[in-house]
Amino acid sequence: MKIGVYPGSFDPVTEGHMDIIKRSAKMFDKVIVAVAKNYSKKPLFTAEERTELIQRSLQDMPNVEVDSFEGLLMDYIHSKNAQVIIKGLRAISDFEYEFQMALMNRKLDPKVETIFMMTSYKYSFLSSSMIKEVASLGGCIAGLVPENIIPDIYRKLKTIR
Ligand code: ADP
Repeated sequence: MKIGVYPGSFDPVTEGHMDIIKRSAKMFDKVIVAVAKNYSKKPLFTAEERTELIQRSLQDMPNVEVDSFEGLLMDYIHSKNAQVIIKGLRAISDFEYEFQMALMNRKLDPKVETIFMMTSYKYSFLSSSMIKEVASLGGCIAGLVPENIIPDIYRKLKTIR
């Protein structure tokens, strides 16, 4: 069984992430969206909340599972018997860091491949931090994140003001 792991912070999940999830679900028997608990930027949502928001956004994708992990991604990959790390690329600015990560992961285990999927152009400017910034200033985020999680984002931002 071909298993791909799509890791990230997903704070919160965006339509850019959803696009990568939908497209990779067609390429693998199973895709595990892996929410990183040890996320360096101070997250808005807890790992449990981030996981739940993704779960709620997945519809009709029976081969996609959402989980969270702590520690080294490669250890997690092994624990799930996965063979592939899935990454999304937005712009050239993502490339250098992702390239470095991919080479480090290859050093850790050459049997595990990293594949990069180009973002759809309409989401190429989209990041979770941009969503939080716009929403916190009262801007409209419709069409940029799954519709049913929009109220959660505004509600959460109010609690930290
Ligand atoms: P962010 O930079 O938005 O906080 P994450 O750490 O949650 O992103 O990203 C997880 C993965 O999703 C990374 O591989 C990242 O490149 C990819 N990704 C993030 N936003 C998009 C997007 N708009 N289009 C395609 N891929 C994306």
